[in-house]
Amino acid sequence: MRIFDPHIHMTSRTTDDYTAMYDAGVRAVVEPSFWLGQPRTAPESFYDYFDSLLGWEPFRAAQHGIAHHCTLALNPKEANDPRCTPVLDALPHYLLKDSVVAVGEIGYDSMTPAEDTALAAQLQLAADHELPALVHTPHRDKAAGLARTLDVVRESALPAEHVLVDHLNETTVDAALDSGCWLGFSLYPDTKMDEARMVRILADRGPDCLRRTLVNSAADWGHSDPLTPRRFGDALFAAGFTPDDADQVLWRNPVAFYGLSGRLALDVAPPAATHEGNSLLRGGD
Ligand SMILES: [Zn+2]
Repeated sequence: MRIFDPHIHMTSRTTDDYTAMYDAGVRAVVEPSFWLGQPRTAPESFYDYFDSLLGWEPFRAAQHGIAHHCTLALNPKEANDPRCTPVLDALPHYLLKDSVVAVGEIGYDSMTPAEDTALAAQLQLAADHELPALVHTPHRDKAAGLARTLDVVRESALPAEHVLVDHLNETTVDAALDSGCWLGFSLYPDTKMDEARMVRILADRGPDCLRRTLVNSAADWGHSDPLTPRRFGDALFAAGFTPDDADQVLWRNPVAFYGLSGRLALDVAPPAATHEGNSLLRGGD
């Protein structure tokens, strides 16, 4: 089973995770830029983070045979902090980089006016750069959060089929299907969505849903597990879906969505020994 995790925060994960992911079939990941769990106090803190998503993390992934791309944006939560909003002016420079395959994650956290502004501005940036957009939907008040998100997407210059709405569940999947967007589901160990519920969503809704669904671990610094996509693939087989169905959801759909950028490079280059003079050996010894 080949697996493309379209949303995982490897910066927060260990080399053991990379090894376990490779052993489970993961050959490609996309790492969206997001909130680090504590507030950043200056835009420069974002730029160092963006540089690590563009340089160090792909280098680290390549050591484990995994292709790494990223999506860059001002995340929804920090869009509310005036110390961080200058990042919006710097993004056009970063969005030109080869391994950036979407603008994201953007969207709503608490649905404030500042989040409205950042979401609309970044959907426009995606359209200007001919990139798709990864849109996070709120973990609280999900139905209202998705409805407002889809309104803003409809008013944007970006066509729905260039937008992935993520963190869906049973309460939001049908509205997302009607919108024409791609559908993202984050599977967590014991909260929010899990593998069995994900299989039921696909079984109940049929082939159109399957053709537009991407499944991710959204693994980060919180309680999460980079192997949930593999367990979902196993649960699909157990429910009678075919290997081709699993390949559609776990590989071909993320390739089709991020391929809209024209920048996906899935052959992992032989690992370089160093990145900008630094190795994984902490000083070279
Ligand atoms: Zn995320």
